[in-house]
Amino acid sequence: MTVQKASKRTKFIFITGGVLSSLGKGLAAASIGALLESRGLTITFQKLDPYINVDPGTMNPFQHGEVYVTDDGAETDLDLGHYERYTSVATGQRNNYTSGRIYYSVITKERQGEYLGGTVQVIPHITDEIKRAIHQFDGEVDIAIIEIGGTIGDIESLPFLEAIRQFRSDVGRDHSLFIHVTWVPYIKTAGEFKTKPTQHSVKELRAIGIQPDILLCRTERPLARELKEKISLFCNVSTDAVITAQDVHSIYEVPLCFHKEGLDDKLLELLNIWTGTPHLEAWQELVRQIQHPKAKVLIAVIGKYVDLKESYKSLHEALVHGGIGNSATVELRYVSAEDLEAKDAAELLDGCQGILVPGGFGKRGVEGKIKAITFARQRKIPFFGICLGMQLAVIEFARNVVGLSDANSTEFDQATSQPVIYFIKEWYDYRTDKIQIRDENSNMGGTLRLGAYPCVLQPETLAAQAYVGKEIFERHRHRYEFNNAFLHELVAKGLVVSGTSPDKSLVEIVELNDHPWFLGCQFHPEFKSKPMAPHPLFRAFIEAALNYGKS
Ligand code: GLN
Repeated sequence: MTVQKASKRTKFIFITGGVLSSLGKGLAAASIGALLESRGLTITFQKLDPYINVDPGTMNPFQHGEVYVTDDGAETDLDLGHYERYTSVATGQRNNYTSGRIYYSVITKERQGEYLGGTVQVIPHITDEIKRAIHQFDGEVDIAIIEIGGTIGDIESLPFLEAIRQFRSDVGRDHSLFIHVTWVPYIKTAGEFKTKPTQHSVKELRAIGIQPDILLCRTERPLARELKEKISLFCNVSTDAVITAQDVHSIYEVPLCFHKEGLDDKLLELLNIWTGTPHLEAWQELVRQIQHPKAKVLIAVIGKYVDLKESYKSLHEALVHGGIGNSATVELRYVSAEDLEAKDAAELLDGCQGILVPGGFGKRGVEGKIKAITFARQRKIPFFGICLGMQLAVIEFARNVVGLSDANSTEFDQATSQPVIYFIKEWYDYRTDKIQIRDENSNMGGTLRLGAYPCVLQPETLAAQAYVGKEIFERHRHRYEFNNAFLHELVAKGLVVSGTSPDKSLVEIVELNDHPWFLGCQFHPEFKSKPMAPHPLFRAFIEAALNYGKS
């Protein structure tokens, strides 16, 4: 065994999921983090994903949902978004591992001769590598919350489960805790709850050698004491460790619901930690605000993946936060960009007080998004373009205001004579302090501008009004950029460049000067918005939407 034992300090909470996916394991992990922070404990998170992709960067959003981007440029699972929204934790590369990444590192070591001619096996080599990944946080925080992706019973997750089983033997009981998130369906025709799926899931977990300490039971209605007793008996978990995780209207109610169920007390008791009472006032105030909005606003989101809300998770949340910042409820109408191509924009966008075109890749639906932008520009409806949305706003402006009829991005038309958005082969990367060189054939992922970059704001612009301070850091994930060869021509016709890289070489934010609120940014502000600290641009966009049609 080459892995070191945990120091006395950091304790580990492992969260697994049973029965079926989508039970809200990530939200449960985030909420537990929030409760622990409210007691003054320092925490971190890690998501262990069983699939073989090295990271989710190249995965189709249909299959995997949003790719969440961290400051350090990691392309990660969307659960890291929940972790950052609910707590003060800043995540990065070390907070998300996939099987692919673990295997990649073991195979690389094998090729370098590190295993000295031994046979390389799942146990102990892969499991040791997993434990090493988990142990990185040792001594850094009071509690590390480790979420295992997938559902018990999946073949892929077995090495992770074996690793955490061993982990408990390595570090001992009061330094490790197992929480299992499960489902207790209420069968309406029978008028009763069914505990069998939970029993089976725990049985399967125990067959692997893991006895859960706490069960988080996702249900439609509260679980009565007798039912908890039944689950306790069959699953070998004490009754007060059977926690009801009832469906809620707003995901931000979850920490308070868990607290009411005594979850935080229970896990601190099991981990043998003494803290003061939790400070949950900010969460209470947040929920109160969400439950008592003063206004309502309808925003259209023009996207490619409109049927799968998971693909726009952070965006959705950031819009909700923008609403919270204005004491308003935000209603979203997801409009398919392809439908817009075929239909009249006025028909699909009727009644919307704001139009948002989010990030995206590929040509499909692009002309529909441009049509929505024309509609927003001409009718003076507040418009927010994010990443691809900003690039399309530039194309729309170039075509319809400046008269560059062939204007396009080289992503969609390599041969365009007016490449207002193009692929930069050389650019300065402040993080490495080097000129980055890339071409269209560079390794996928390798060509993206990823992670946080600085941006300097121009005074007296919408951007400068929204943010406090002149220099901001925002997260990027794109290949193409604004082409400065067209800068003067566009600016002369009324395009405002309100944010650039500090050396002015990269255009980061554009606006229109004859419009109440029209802003496109090359970065993804949605990744940095939190319910208690709504992102300035989302707050300003929702404020403008609320004012639309008023004057
Ligand atoms: N497809 C565009 C690019 O690569 C925009 C990417 C995005 O919206 N994240 O630059």
